[in-house]
Amino acid sequence: MFKKYILTVLAAIFLFNVNAQSLYIPRDVQKAYNKGTREADGKPGKNYWQNSANYNISITVMPPDRTVKGTEQITYFNNSPDTLKQLNMKLIMNIHRAGATRFRNTTPDYITPGMQVDSIFVNGEKKPWDNAKALGTNQFVKLSTPLLPHDSVKLNITWHYELALGAGREGVIDPTTFYIGYFYPRISVYDDYNGWDRLEFNDRQEFYNDFNNYTLNVTVPKNFVVWATGILQNPAQVLQPEYIKRMQRSFTSDSVIHIVTPADIAQKQVTSQNDMNTWVWKANDISDMVTAVSDHYDWDGASTIVDDATHRRASMQAAFDDRSADFHLAVKWGLHTLNGLSHNLPGVPYPYPKMTAFQGFADMEFPMMVNDSHEIDLADAQLLQDHEMAHTYFPFYMGINETRYGYMDEGWATTFELFLNEDEIGKQAALDRYRNVRIKPYITDPSSSEDLPIITPTSELVGGYAHNAYGKASLSYLALRDLLGDELFKKALHVYMANWHGKHPIPWDYFNSMNSGSGKNLNWFFYNWFFTNDYIDISLQAVVKEAGGYVFSIQNIGGYAIPFDIKLTYADGATQTIHETPAVWEHNQKQVFFHIATKKVIKSAVLDNGIFMDADVSNNSWTGK
Ligand SMILES: [Zn+2]
Repeated sequence: MFKKYILTVLAAIFLFNVNAQSLYIPRDVQKAYNKGTREADGKPGKNYWQNSANYNISITVMPPDRTVKGTEQITYFNNSPDTLKQLNMKLIMNIHRAGATRFRNTTPDYITPGMQVDSIFVNGEKKPWDNAKALGTNQFVKLSTPLLPHDSVKLNITWHYELALGAGREGVIDPTTFYIGYFYPRISVYDDYNGWDRLEFNDRQEFYNDFNNYTLNVTVPKNFVVWATGILQNPAQVLQPEYIKRMQRSFTSDSVIHIVTPADIAQKQVTSQNDMNTWVWKANDISDMVTAVSDHYDWDGASTIVDDATHRRASMQAAFDDRSADFHLAVKWGLHTLNGLSHNLPGVPYPYPKMTAFQGFADMEFPMMVNDSHEIDLADAQLLQDHEMAHTYFPFYMGINETRYGYMDEGWATTFELFLNEDEIGKQAALDRYRNVRIKPYITDPSSSEDLPIITPTSELVGGYAHNAYGKASLSYLALRDLLGDELFKKALHVYMANWHGKHPIPWDYFNSMNSGSGKNLNWFFYNWFFTNDYIDISLQAVVKEAGGYVFSIQNIGGYAIPFDIKLTYADGATQTIHETPAVWEHNQKQVFFHIATKKVIKSAVLDNGIFMDADVSNNSWTGK
């Protein structure tokens, strides 16, 4: 059996057009390439820079009082070649103010007075601040002395705010359980292609942060346990010896250790018995900190080797309401996830020392701690946890600008989740679930917003956001894997990740890195998947008998360069499946012809795209007369 592609004259013209196609680069992004901060081979340029800061943050919370009181010192380093006359502060908690710009409707209990800055000093000089006027999530602070390249500035800020009852990504989980995220005034990203990140936080776009060093002090009343991003620095000061022992045992144990149980909570001897305890956390070179407190959550832990070369273990922990059956499995599930992510896809050792699954409401990733809702269905709960943990790589390890390029992180989390799920419920069941949940709602919706190019900035999308960021982007990654084969795909992905982890890649860095990493010019493929209004619909136009076999003519009505199977049934009852990778569309993205050499009679044929779900399957089959 063999097959070959016929290039018609028409196809040859198309080939010229498609391969000569250099990818559209927005004019502001083009400047970064001109300045040499980014390179055409996909690497950060010799002039690449990014700014960073040291944050020393202290907060106090006394549940059920919902007030968070904070002080911080920020030392901000200007590594850019630019002189900065002002700093843009991100005050994300202003999303809770009445009248804030929000992506969706909210409930009255989501509303609070927002971030209240009590004082702000820049290099010791007190700055005027009017909370009644500082309404938005971006607030510019003018510098009396401009911040020169390679110089730093010190800010001292005190603030307070009220955690919202209508919890979303952060807030009150129950009267004495708080998930505290986006809680401190942060200096927004100033980057080489866009300057200050001024996009208003509207509760949809999630992260775009510098890589900073953090010390976080969380002061709570006794009997409250604190979880947070980073490593606990002072267990002996905040925990009783028995619980330190259990926690430390979990750091070397493959099986689940119950660090704190309901019986322990009832005895009120888990934490040090000072009126207030200050839990000190540190994390370096990380894009955000998050913390959570409770006086009645169970606490489980175990660990697994995530790096075979160094035998480094990562700790998996869970903090949850004892009544939640799913969370009793969270650590066991999490070990599987840490292993799958570290050893399979992306196949990069889990980059942090730990992960905590915290029971909240949001189904939301933060560095080293996810905030997941309780699910009755255990398979759903596990998959949700997989997805949020997978985000460790994108946007955190990779420093994605999710506010503009959401597909650069959600698409990957959706892809990694599929591979984890195949292990958990079996390959076919996982593929069916992915198809039904991630793809079907997109492909069965013919509205034009669904077919906007994936490259469309996330901040400009309303209706098309979800599928552009999740399903369509994920399919592009899976189609590329089918095109390159597992090994080459992974090699190229690792080149991209090595080029950009701990930095701020943009889509063109991904395209260029995958081109260099695979040793192929894949621009035709990236153009097809990211820059067009294409969708998925192929058609088996004709099957014609010819000398020595058959010629199949397949039309690409939707246009996406997808892989597919041709399933043949012969007159003698035998069946055969021929897999075609997206490579078949490289030279002609509208139509391909296959010659199938056989002496037998083909009775029927069908095109099966699997998870690359076809918008119209009525034209995917042929039956001989
Ligand atoms: Zn996600």
